[in-house]
Amino acid sequence: MELASLAKTRLMNMTETGCIFCKIVSREINTEFIAETNNTLAFWDITPLAKVHLLVIPKQHHRDVAELSENAPQILSEVLTTATDLAKKYTAGSFKLQFNTGAEAGQTVFHAHAHVLSETAKDGS
Ligand code: AMP
Ligand code: ZN
Repeated sequence: MELASLAKTRLMNMTETGCIFCKIVSREINTEFIAETNNTLAFWDITPLAKVHLLVIPKQHHRDVAELSENAPQILSEVLTTATDLAKKYTAGSFKLQFNTGAEAGQTVFHAHAHVLSETAKDGS
């Protein structure tokens, strides 16, 4: 394959039509961000399942954490750093870091994301 066409394929793979989190990355869906790094974005989960419930996503589209780990381990590392930094900021120190992987495991959005969940918010609420 020619270089230009390889680059195009790679670009196309970075976002996926119809993916709700890609639309958040491209600002097609208006979302308040709580953190942004070169390769990640974080925002509050729209249906919180805990007192603190935020999501950290890679800007690139990867269907789940397994694919992200295989194809872009340095970006997975950045997702983890963003998640733990935000856990430090918003929780009292106890939290769950969760990657639902596969429909049977509860994954509903097939763009890799980390859930940060905690019942002990930093402000004590
Ligand atoms: P999962 O079930 O692990 O795939 O998690 C997907 C999460 O994304 C769920 O907890 C949803 O509540 C959350 N979610 C879906 N759409 C949005 C959105 N537009 N903004 C924030 N969170 C969302
Ligand atoms: Zn996506």
